[in-house]
Amino acid sequence: MMRTTFSMVCLLMFLSLTVPALDIGVGTADITPDVKAYRVPMAGYGARLGRPATGVHDPLEAKVLFLRDGAETSVLVCCDLRSITPEFKQAIAEQCADLKVDADHLFMAASHTHDGPSMYPEKFWQMQFGKYDPAIIGPMASAVAAAIHDAAKNAAPARVGFGEFEALGFTRNRRWGYDTEARKAAGETPLTEPVVWMLRVDGMDGACRALLVNFACHPTILDADNMLLSAEWPGVMRRELERLMPGATTLFTNGGEGDQSPDGATGESNFQQMEDFGTRLARLIAEKAKTIETKPDLSAHCARVLAELPPLAFPESAKAKHAAYAEAAIAALPRKAEIQMLRIGPAALVGLPGEPILAVAQAVRESVQAAGVERAVPVGLANDYSGYIVNEKEYAHGGYEVESRSYYGPGLGAFVAEQAGALAGTVAGKGN
Ligand SMILES: [Zn+2]
Repeated sequence: MMRTTFSMVCLLMFLSLTVPALDIGVGTADITPDVKAYRVPMAGYGARLGRPATGVHDPLEAKVLFLRDGAETSVLVCCDLRSITPEFKQAIAEQCADLKVDADHLFMAASHTHDGPSMYPEKFWQMQFGKYDPAIIGPMASAVAAAIHDAAKNAAPARVGFGEFEALGFTRNRRWGYDTEARKAAGETPLTEPVVWMLRVDGMDGACRALLVNFACHPTILDADNMLLSAEWPGVMRRELERLMPGATTLFTNGGEGDQSPDGATGESNFQQMEDFGTRLARLIAEKAKTIETKPDLSAHCARVLAELPPLAFPESAKAKHAAYAEAAIAALPRKAEIQMLRIGPAALVGLPGEPILAVAQAVRESVQAAGVERAVPVGLANDYSGYIVNEKEYAHGGYEVESRSYYGPGLGAFVAEQAGALAGTVAGKGN
């Protein structure tokens, strides 16, 4: 009898040591720069001519999802910013070295709000968005690092599940306006894919602790006239979701938003329209999130590649426009594309350092899924910024995204899809 009990205890101890476990933690940081203490020009619209923000409409936040799978720790940080700079990521990673969070395992994504701070050290970006005061970066990075440490402390065994649905009437393809007659003659239709993808994290008691939402759409309901910092519709959406789902931290990543603009928002002012858009979207998401079933013991793995980008090349039609900028652009633009993949169970977030148009995001998804990932979710504006990421067909149509913001020629879309597929091969199939 004694012997049986002893064996049972040994067996249970063995099982508890070998059963895989995924611990997840959450954190929130306020990253709103102090507009009274510093001059804070706003990034997003060149038409602001580098003028500083005059106040704060609503706070800018960074939301943290901390994942510990055995010895490997991965961290997703979603920020209310136009884009992420390598310097910002580096500053945060340095402050999280004690948690063994390195640049390969720190996945940073920006919402692409056009009402956040300009924080770009390069002259090229400062010529467009204004010269920033480097003093704003330290407090922002420290706030994010503190939220990561909070998340590490509250990390606990978690159940994870996934869901998606179509949110019709929220987006339009903004590139349809370029070359419309030629597009119609070629039998094209405006490409949209308004899929809201969700990752739900529950505690072992079934209570929702976090909801990550991916949706491809520009936060551009506010225009260049707005001089108040704002997280735009993603901020409204997150706050409404957190009101509807008490106890849950809500994170947002953008998708293949390069050609996707918000649509259907109603209200007299732009702020009212932003409220309407974010609130309606949040209410749909909250309903669908209830139906997501979660499972324990999924695996999480993060990997990254720094791929040599194609040579810098401005479109022929825009050479004159770029002449004044060319030298600064060449000095500023990245030479490597940071592509990152965070796989959680059967799904993988695929971080792309720029603004993929929807067709490119679809090509990336296909390429990653062909490499063995069940569900790939492209995330735009991740880790760095290399401009718009278009494909050959859209490059030929011209327009703003090509002439003003495409820096690596018509093959960039195909290049990132190929690189993402190759990276997927290294993270696919490692556990459930
Ligand atoms: Zn954009």
